[in-house]
Parts: sequence; structure tokens; C-alpha cells
Amino acid sequence: MPNESAPPPGRTIWINGELVPWASATVHVLSHSHQRGSLIFDYMSVHETPRGPAVFRMVDHVQRFLRSAELIGFELPRTADAIGAAIVETVRANPGASAVKVSAYLPSIEIDVVPADERVTIAIAAYDPLADIIAKSAAKPHFARVLRVRLERDTRKMRRDIIPPQAKVAANYTSPMIAKWKARRAGYDEILLIDADGHLAEGPTTNVFLVGKDGRLCTPPTGSILEGITRASILAIAKHDGRAVSEAPIAPEALFEAAEVFLTGTTAGVWPVTSVDGRPVGSGDIGPVSQALRERFEAISSGRDADFDHWLTYVGAA
Ligand code: PMP
Repeated sequence: MPNESAPPPGRTIWINGELVPWASATVHVLSHSHQRGSLIFDYMSVHETPRGPAVFRMVDHVQRFLRSAELIGFELPRTADAIGAAIVETVRANPGASAVKVSAYLPSIEIDVVPADERVTIAIAAYDPLADIIAKSAAKPHFARVLRVRLERDTRKMRRDIIPPQAKVAANYTSPMIAKWKARRAGYDEILLIDADGHLAEGPTTNVFLVGKDGRLCTPPTGSILEGITRASILAIAKHDGRAVSEAPIAPEALFEAAEVFLTGTTAGVWPVTSVDGRPVGSGDIGPVSQALRERFEAISSGRDADFDHWLTYVGAA
């Protein structure tokens, strides 16, 4: 049986305004979103803080979700405020959740790529990936504390005029999935993709930063990447702390000259890269800047830094 064989007891999923049991949150195999990859989503983290559970940068994630909908042509049946309120309700109803996935999809069975039934369903799941999915599944996901990365030269990120990189739509993940799967079989943990112009872009689900020998951070500009919330947070934290940052096109070869390289994303926060194409990055271990930013980011997202408290939405008691 696939991973859904053991539904986590007590978990509910919000679907169009109603909390339903985890196992009932299904769509038909012939649904448009399943068959055409038209589902959009966003994924955010929930943290235990001194003031109870809080969602990290919820408003920004909801805004990005609305942008994905607009880019795909979905008319969402709820406003940003209503989606935010539903996220809070779902987190409250699911104690111990460490993540929220909000999705919007076309559940109807369609014969054409353009749906005849344009009604969009919104689903919100608040859960703990470790306890609810990983612990319950027979097939364990690959996890690495530090990353051995392959620079992907054959598969480029799709051109912006094919699918906008700002759209978190299921279909946008097929090409990186194929490349990353091959890299995994070749012994790597992760890949980095190049954009249509030949510049360094991002990972399949992460953004990338290089740290220069002078400690300056450099990350690709927003044109051909997803505008990661963690990326934006690291840039804001670095500026707040007086660290030099730049957003500029990066030649892929710069990876081999960098003192440190790290990836950023909701799941992992700051994730150090220790080798690229088998060549060690810097010392070949977690660098001091990556380590410092990782700890700083963890403190901020778990409500231990008053300067960035506005990034947290406290959900209150159930
Ligand atoms: N790039 C892509 C393509 C992604 O899917 C993600 C994950 N949402 C990221 C970057 C990192 O974004 P975030 O920091 O908002 O998780």
C-alpha cells in the first residue's frame, strides 16, 4: 500500500469550509488537477513558541498562494483574510502540527485541458510530517543533514513563458523531479538548476545562496526562481544584522569558488551544501556563516526574537 495506508488518528483537513477526517480528504483519479497537474499549493511552517503555536509568515504565504491562483487562472472562492482565518482554525484543530499545506484544485472530471467546471476547491492540512507521515510509512524519505549537490546541466528550469516560476503549481515540479530522481540514483542528495539564460537558478524546492570569502551573501534575482519566503527572510535578517547581500545573476561556476553555499526553504530553513559535483565547497563542512544564519533563523521562526515577532501569527488555544 502507498503512504496513505495509515491515516494519523484525529487529524482533520479543512475542505471548502468543513473539517473532514484525514482519510476522507480524497479526489477522483480522473479529476482535472490530478490528470493535468493543475493543483496549486503553498506550504508553511508552524512553531511552538513561548506564546503557543504560531505560523511563520502566514500572510506572505497566503499572498503567494493568491498569486499562484492568479497566474494559473483560478478564481479562488475565498479572500486572503478568509484563507488566513481558515489556516488558524485548522492549526487549532490539529494540535502538534508543524506544517500547513494549503491547496487549490479542480476536482471535476474533465475531458479537455480547459475545465468546463471552473469551480475550485480549497483544502488546508495542518500536520506534523515526521509523526503523521514519515513515522507511519514503510518507505522512509531520503534525509541528509548536509547536502551533496549535483549541478544540473542537462535539465534547465522552464522558461518563464512556459510556466511562470512564481506559480506553485504541481506541473512545475515534474521537470525537477525527473532530474533530482536521476541525481539521487547517482548518489547525490540534491540538485541545483540553471535558468534558461544559463545562470544559477534554484533547487527543486529551495533557493540558493553563496557566501563569498568576504562573508557577503549572494543569491539569484527573482526573475526565474520562486520567490521563497525563507530566501526573503534571510535577506531581511542579513540586512538587519548589517551583513552585505546582493541579488544578482550568478554563473554556475561561482559555486566552485564560494566559501560556503546553502539552500533555503520552509522545510529545512538554512541547509548547508558541502559538495557540488563531488568537489568540496569551502572547508567541505558546515561553514560559520551558514551555521550562524541557521541558528538565527530558527530563533526567529520560533518566536525568540522580538525584532521579528511580526512574522508570526499566533493561533491561540483550541
Ligand atoms: N523554490 C521552489 C521551486 C519551491 O518550491 C520552494 C518551496 N516553496 C522554494 C524555492 C523555497 O520557498 P520557501 O522558502 O517559501 O519555502
